[in-house]
Amino acid sequence: MYRTNYTATNTHPFQATAKQEVAPFKTDLFDADFFREHAETAVAELQAYLTDKTVKGLNLTDPFTLLKTAEALMTKETETIAPFDKKRFRAILNLYIKTGIQVHSPGYMGRQFSGVVPLAGVFDMVNSVLNQPSSFYEAAQLPNVAERIMSRELNRFIGYEEDRFTMVTTSGGSLANLTALLAARNNEWPDGWKKGMKACHEKGMPAIAVSEDTHYSITRAAGILGIGENQLVRLPVDASRKICIGKVQPVLDEAKRNGLHVFCLVASAGTTSVGAIDPLDELAGIARRNRLWMHVDGAHGASLLVSDRLRPRLKGIEKADSLTWDAHKMLFVPSPCSLLFYKEKEKSYGAFHQEASYVFEKQEDIYTGFDSAGKNFECTKRPLIMNLWVLWAIYGRAFFSEKIEYLCRLCKEAYKIVEEAPDFETIHRPESNILCFRYKPHGMQHVIVPDFQTEIRNRVRKNGTFFISKVDIDKEAALRVVFMNHEIRPEHIRRLLHEIREAARGILGEKNGIIYHPYPDSTL
Ligand SMILES: *Cc1c(COP(=O)(O)O)cnc(C)c1O
Repeated sequence: MYRTNYTATNTHPFQATAKQEVAPFKTDLFDADFFREHAETAVAELQAYLTDKTVKGLNLTDPFTLLKTAEALMTKETETIAPFDKKRFRAILNLYIKTGIQVHSPGYMGRQFSGVVPLAGVFDMVNSVLNQPSSFYEAAQLPNVAERIMSRELNRFIGYEEDRFTMVTTSGGSLANLTALLAARNNEWPDGWKKGMKACHEKGMPAIAVSEDTHYSITRAAGILGIGENQLVRLPVDASRKICIGKVQPVLDEAKRNGLHVFCLVASAGTTSVGAIDPLDELAGIARRNRLWMHVDGAHGASLLVSDRLRPRLKGIEKADSLTWDAHKMLFVPSPCSLLFYKEKEKSYGAFHQEASYVFEKQEDIYTGFDSAGKNFECTKRPLIMNLWVLWAIYGRAFFSEKIEYLCRLCKEAYKIVEEAPDFETIHRPESNILCFRYKPHGMQHVIVPDFQTEIRNRVRKNGTFFISKVDIDKEAALRVVFMNHEIRPEHIRRLLHEIREAARGILGEKNGIIYHPYPDSTL
């Protein structure tokens, strides 16, 4: 209880009295020396992990076995705080390291998340310990300033008008896409936020035009927004998996005849399946003529903008109303770190049309002018930008452009290697760092093995040397590699092809009655 009569007891009002009201809570978990000692243990383990240059993919464990192993690592103490057990700490650390996809190995070629720059990982620890959630300037001053800086730095490569654009960070590209589509919907139906979908049906069924190859987060967003997956108007792609420009207008016209009100067109700058970049400039023209919001999903490929050599591939991107850009993919920082750009600042506030955001927008002071809460869905949000900004601040743009250029060159070389191998089939010419192909050995057309490519992928994964992925292209499975690691060299690609041949031989050998002649002069 708060004592007012402190002169009588002669104690300071905030000092404990003889009788303790609350026993103090004692723990060494927050001790600074303790922190340093065990942070060093973790750093040493990570150093050993980074030193290991073995070519390896994933050691895929039976999840129930792993569950038991993990449970066995838990303390049995239930009554008091268990004492720190260094052995247990190390064992958990090592189990974590061992069971992951080995993203720092040249054997990792399967996914779009990167082997992060370790220094960015160190900074992520700093983020976690400082814990400054970044939706409000007050809670995260430097992160909000760094957001402003990075938005300007990166916009130099996008080309939006400097005093009109804005950027907000989101926890992942999927959330950035959802947020952008929400802003697009609310821009078209300003009443939609309050009145709900009822307000949106006045002009016809709301619909979004997307590429056949659009990412599933766009499909999900349509579901979440109440637009419905059925109202996605699919734009056909050509042989290089880009939206076929000549077919867009006819498809839009047909949608209109069918009572759909298309309000947004989503293009991809780097499709997930093959890394194809849609013809943004032409699409922007079509979007403008049809009064559509144009959103570019550049989660994967927007990073190509930082390279002078690769930027022309994204020509027209400055005409997009919004742009999703994942830094945790091609800018090599820990996930998640996604950036959502808007051409027009005011439109960004349309996504979450709440009184609150309007109020503080109108009464903006120098501090709240740096808040991002009005533009992002998260309330508590990690200071996502810091890992990126620290690398950018220390190394500058060239680190990113040089690494991205290498990965794209490597991918071109991989295409050549696959193209020259007579028992492989290429599917597309790579535009970024993703390559899809199929293993089609001689005589294969006579051998019916269902899910052959998928089985190859699974066997390669199980062998543990390479981690590659699988994707369906034109309803047929294909093998997919994504180059995120600059330590991958052409010889690793040749080794992968050899591994694929061996896997295929194993699979075919197990099928009864199939005689299989591997290609006689395969190069390995
Ligand atoms: C990865 C990706 C996404 C999803 O982004 P997350 O950060 O994984 O949520 C969306 N679109 C494209 C084209 C992608 O490659």
